[in-house]
Amino acid sequence: MRSPKRAVPACLALTILFTYGCSPLPQKAGCPGNIPSLEQGIAGHSHNGRPIEYTRIGCGKRTTLVYGAIHGNEPASAALAEYLIEKLALLPESWRHQNRTIVIPVANPDGLLIRSRANSRGIDLNRNFPTRNRIDNLQFGMRALSEPESQTLINIKKTYPPDRIISIHQPLACIDYDGPAVQISRAMALHTDLPICRLGARPGSHGTYAGVERHIPIVTFEMRPEDDLLKPSQIWTLYGKAIMAGITYPQAPPDL
Ligand SMILES: [Zn+2]
Repeated sequence: MRSPKRAVPACLALTILFTYGCSPLPQKAGCPGNIPSLEQGIAGHSHNGRPIEYTRIGCGKRTTLVYGAIHGNEPASAALAEYLIEKLALLPESWRHQNRTIVIPVANPDGLLIRSRANSRGIDLNRNFPTRNRIDNLQFGMRALSEPESQTLINIKKTYPPDRIISIHQPLACIDYDGPAVQISRAMALHTDLPICRLGARPGSHGTYAGVERHIPIVTFEMRPEDDLLKPSQIWTLYGKAIMAGITYPQAPPDL
């Protein structure tokens, strides 16, 4: 499924879209058992063959999956997730031994390239999961998991079963959650001015699939529409600590 890469710039997929520079991630000593504490690779490919890149940072028991840009017209979500990788790579080994964070900055690379909510086949990937309320149609896919991008998210969760999931979106400007994630959401809300909201269990959404039906806490972190105009460092200033709070709950987030 995956092909690990060598030490890597953190932002391969985004260089075509954003102007900030790539810097090599700092490599640190491994985790117990000779497991590398940082791994980057390809979780899958889009319909048009673009790689869906992931980074694993840490090897602890608390496993968080964070992804951005499942909707390709939400580019600030990808920028925030990409910046998160660079920040997590700065944390000490002690933190990495407690936490295992999997980050997929761009879950829908074909859509991001053309700023389309859907993937290149016109399918809304966040309606393509096998939920009880799923709707088979040309917009959501004629069957569940018809798209390689949604399959990739399922596969990465089999490799790294998450205790919690943070799905970064725009533009609704609130913190939504599904499943047992109210405490995590409240912890995140302490560090940003986005309010908590309840958007409901959308048909075929990842929130419904993971949170409502499998009881895995999942936070849908909706940024603002105008965040597209900001630099990644500015986006991090607005939302970074909230994302970190979601990753580290019930512990307080580190300063980054
Ligand atoms: Zn979205």
